[in-house]
Amino acid sequence: MAVSASTDTESWYLRGLSQIYDSLGADSAGLSIEEAESRRSEYGPNRLPKAKPVTVWQIFLRQFKNPLIYILAIAAIVSFAIGEETDAGFIGLVLLINALVGGIQEWRAERSSQALQQLIRTRATVIRDGETRDIDGEDVVPGDVVLLESGYRVPADVRLVSTHGLEIDESALTGESAPVPKDEEWTGDDRAPLGDRRNMAYAGTVVNRGRGRGIVVETGGDTVVGRLAEDVTAVEGGQPPLVMRMERFTRIVGLVVLVAAAITALLGIFVQQYDAVEMFLFAVALAVSAIPEGLPVGITVALGVASRRMAKVGVIVRRLVAVEGLGSCTMIASDKTGTLTANELTVKQVQLPDGSTFEVTGEGYAPEGNVLQDGHPPKPDLADELSRLARASVLCNEGHLSRRNGEWTWRGDPTDIALLALGRKLGWSRQSALDAYPQTDEIPFEPEQRYAATFHRTNDETRVFVKGAPERVLEMCVDASEGEFSQPALQQQANEMAHNGYRVLAVAEGTVETDEEQEQPLSEPTDLTFLGFLGLIDPLRSGVAEAIASAQQAGITVTMITGDHPETALAIARNLGLAESADEVTTGAELMDASQEKLEEILEKTLVFARVSPDQKLKIVEAARGMGHYVAVTGDGVNDAPALRQANIGIAMGKMGTDVARDAAELVISDDNFATIVAGIEQGRVAFDNIRKVIFLLISTGAGEVALVLLSLAAGLPLPLVPVQILWLNLVTNGIQDVALAFEPKEGDVLNRPPRSPDERIFNQIMIERTLVAALVIGVIGFGTFIWLLDQGLSEAAVRNHLLLLIVLFQMINIGNARSETTSLFQLSPFRSPILLTGTITAFLVHLGAMYFPPAQAVLGTAPVALEQWLVLGGIALTIAVAIELHKLSWKLRYPPRSETEEQSPSQTHEKEV
Ligand code: ADP
Ligand code: MG
Repeated sequence: MAVSASTDTESWYLRGLSQIYDSLGADSAGLSIEEAESRRSEYGPNRLPKAKPVTVWQIFLRQFKNPLIYILAIAAIVSFAIGEETDAGFIGLVLLINALVGGIQEWRAERSSQALQQLIRTRATVIRDGETRDIDGEDVVPGDVVLLESGYRVPADVRLVSTHGLEIDESALTGESAPVPKDEEWTGDDRAPLGDRRNMAYAGTVVNRGRGRGIVVETGGDTVVGRLAEDVTAVEGGQPPLVMRMERFTRIVGLVVLVAAAITALLGIFVQQYDAVEMFLFAVALAVSAIPEGLPVGITVALGVASRRMAKVGVIVRRLVAVEGLGSCTMIASDKTGTLTANELTVKQVQLPDGSTFEVTGEGYAPEGNVLQDGHPPKPDLADELSRLARASVLCNEGHLSRRNGEWTWRGDPTDIALLALGRKLGWSRQSALDAYPQTDEIPFEPEQRYAATFHRTNDETRVFVKGAPERVLEMCVDASEGEFSQPALQQQANEMAHNGYRVLAVAEGTVETDEEQEQPLSEPTDLTFLGFLGLIDPLRSGVAEAIASAQQAGITVTMITGDHPETALAIARNLGLAESADEVTTGAELMDASQEKLEEILEKTLVFARVSPDQKLKIVEAARGMGHYVAVTGDGVNDAPALRQANIGIAMGKMGTDVARDAAELVISDDNFATIVAGIEQGRVAFDNIRKVIFLLISTGAGEVALVLLSLAAGLPLPLVPVQILWLNLVTNGIQDVALAFEPKEGDVLNRPPRSPDERIFNQIMIERTLVAALVIGVIGFGTFIWLLDQGLSEAAVRNHLLLLIVLFQMINIGNARSETTSLFQLSPFRSPILLTGTITAFLVHLGAMYFPPAQAVLGTAPVALEQWLVLGGIALTIAVAIELHKLSWKLRYPPRSETEEQSPSQTHEKEV
C-alpha cells in the first residue's frame, strides 16, 4: 500500500535541508519552549485522528442481536396474538431489562479498556531551548528537532539531519518487513516510493537499530500514517480466548437446552395434553432461563475487574488473555537490570591497567564525591591516567547530566549517567570534553554487541573512545605486554571485580585512519589502548527478595536472564535468594551449541542465564515452553520482542521499556519492578477463581430449574411454574449476582498453592460434581416440595407462588455457596464483598416487593406468604447450603490440600484448552 507521491506535503524528501529549515522557520538547534508552545496551539496535538468510540446506543442495540432475544420476541408476539397482553408486556419488559443489564456491563468493560490504553503513551525526545528533553509524543510540533533511538517509535514525519547506523522498520506503512537503512545524505527523484526515501523517517514506524536526529516536517493527521489513518486505527480486534471458548460453550449449552425445551413442549402437548400455546411459551421461558447467556459477558466483566485491580498494583493489561494466563504461570524469566535491581548505577571502584585500585565515594547520580586510593587522593601520575579514563567515559556516552536551578538532572541510560557522574568527580563534564574533541560519528550501544564507540576529531587525527563488556573491549586492545598486563591477566582482574558483584565496564581509546571516513557501516575499532575498568554497583530493588520467595512458594520457577557477566549475575542472584552456586549459572555461549536434549538438561538446573543475547533469550523461552512450562518473560529492548512474543505472557517494562517491547507484550509493568509481576500473578489467580464462581452459579441454577420442570412433567403433574415466573427467576436471581461474583476479593493465600495446569478444563472434576449436587438439590427437593404443596390442598396458583419463593431462596443461598470452591460458606464474612451483598439483598427485596405489589401480583401470580410458610420454605432452602458444605468437606477428605513441605513441581503439560 505505497502512498502516491502526488500531494505537496510529501515532497519534503526532495528538498534540501536549508530549504526545509526556511519553510519551517526552524533549524538544527531546535525550537525554543515558547515557540514550541505557540506552534502546539497552532497545529494541535500530534496524534492520529481517533477511531470513533462505540456509543452507549450501539452497545445497547447490539444486545438485541442474539438468537435468544429473537425467540423471546416471537414469544411476545404469540402472547399478544392470543390475547395475553400482560404476558406480552412482561416479556417485552424482560427483553428491555436484559438488554439494559447486558449493555451496561459491556459498556463498562469497554470504558475501562479505553482508560487502560490511556496509561500507555508514547514519548518523544526533542531539543527545546538547546536541551534534550523527553516530552509526551502529542506535544511534538513541526520544526522540532527529535532524537531517534533503537526501540522507539518515530513520533512524527521527520526529515533526517544526521544518522548513525539508523535502520527503521517501516512495515506498518509499507508492509515491507526488512528494516530500511536510513541516510540523511540520500537524494532521489519524485518517483521514489515511500520505502525508498532514505532521508525521511515516518510517524508510526519503529527504529530497529542505531541513532538519528531529524527535523519534524509533519505532525498528527498530516503525517503519511495520519492520511492513512482509517486503515491503521482499526480497532485491534479479537476477544480473549476464554471468552471465545465460553461463547462456544454457551452456544452448545443453548442448543442442548433448546432441544430439551422442544422435547418438553412436544411431550407436554401430545402426551400430557397441555395447551399448545402455553407449552410453547413455557418452553421459551425455560430455554431463556437455562441458557447461560450471561456467561461471556460475565467473564468479560470478571477479566475487566481483574485488569482494573492489576492496574492498581501497577500491571497494565494490554491483552485480556494475559489475565487468565497469569494464573497458570509456572516460570518467570526476568531481566536483571532494572527489574531485580534498581538500575541506579554508581561507579564505586576504578582499576587502572596496572591493577591500582580506587574507591569512589558518593551515591547516586549527583556527582558529589571523590576518587580515593586507600583513603587518599591519587598520586599525580595516576591522577593523569584517571583523567584520561574519565575523559573517554564522558565522550563515549549518550547520557545527559546537568545542573538546573541548583538541582542535578539527568536523562539516558543509567550506565551512561553513572559514567558522567564519575567524569565530573574527576573534573570532566561531557560538554567540556566535546568542546575539545568534537564528535564525528558513533557506534551506539546495542545489547548484542555489548560495547559502544564514538569518534572525535582532534588537531590532525580522528580518535575513537570505546566502553563496554571487558571481554569485548579487551579483544580490541593491543596486547601491551606479556605477564602482568597481558590480556589473560587483565581478564582475570575483571572477573574478580565481577565476582564481588560489580557490573564491570572496560574503557579504551585509540586512533583511526581518517581516509576510511565514509565507510558504512563503521567497522569495529582495533589496536586500542586499554585505559581501565570501572566497577558499578546496582542496588537491589527493595521488596524483590520477598517477591522471589513468594513466587517460589507459589510453585513458580524464577530465573534471571541477563546480558551481564556470570559472576556479577551470580553475586546478585545470591543476594536475592534466587540462586546459590555456580552450577546454577549458564552462559549464552553454552546454550548456543547445546543439543535439544542437553538444552533441557541445562534448563532443569539453571536459575541464572548470563551473557545472553536477545536471540539466545528466545531460545531459552522456546525450550522452556517445550518442556511444558507456562512462561512469563520480561524484556525491555527492541531485540527482546521475539522472546516476548514467544512467551506465554510477555511482560514489558513501562519506564525503561522501548515501544517495540511494549507492543510485543501482553502486560506492561508500570514501575519495572519484579515484585509487581508477582502481585499480578496473584491477581491473575484470583480472577480465574472468580470466573469459575460465575460459571458455577449460572450453570447450576439453570440446570436446577430444568431438572425441576422435567421431573414434574415426567410425573404427569401440572407445570411447576408458569412462563412469566421462569423469566422473572432469571431476572432476580442472575441479573446482578453473577457479575458481582467477579468482584470477590482474594480467598486466603492464593500464592500458597501450585499453579493451575494450563490445560485443565474449567469443567474439571470438582466443578462437575459441585454443579450436579446443586442442580439435583434444586431439582429434586424443589420437586418434592411441589408434590407436598399440592397435597396441602392449596390452589395451583398458591402452590406456584410458594415454589417460586423457594427457588428464589435456593438461589440466594447458592450465591453464598459459589463464593468459595473450598472454604465453608460460614467461614466467609458476607461483608467481604459489599457489591455481592447489596446485589443479593436488592434482588431479594425486589422479589419481596413483587409479592406485595398488586400489579406485579397480577402479572407474576405472586402473593404474600404466611410467616409459618416462610420458615418452612427457608428451612427447605437451607438444604442446598448443607449439601454443598458436605461436598466441600468430602472434597477436602478425598483431596487434602498439599502440605507446606511437599515438593513443588511445575506442571508438565502445555496445550491450552478449556
Ligand atoms: P543487562 O541484562 O544487565 O541489562 P545489558 O544487555 O544491558 O545487560 O548489557 C550487557 C553488557 O553490555 C553489560 O554487562 C555491559 O558490559 C555492557 N553495557 C551495558 N550498557 C552499556 C552501555 N551503555 N555502553 C557500553 N556497554 C554497555
Ligand atoms: Mg540493559
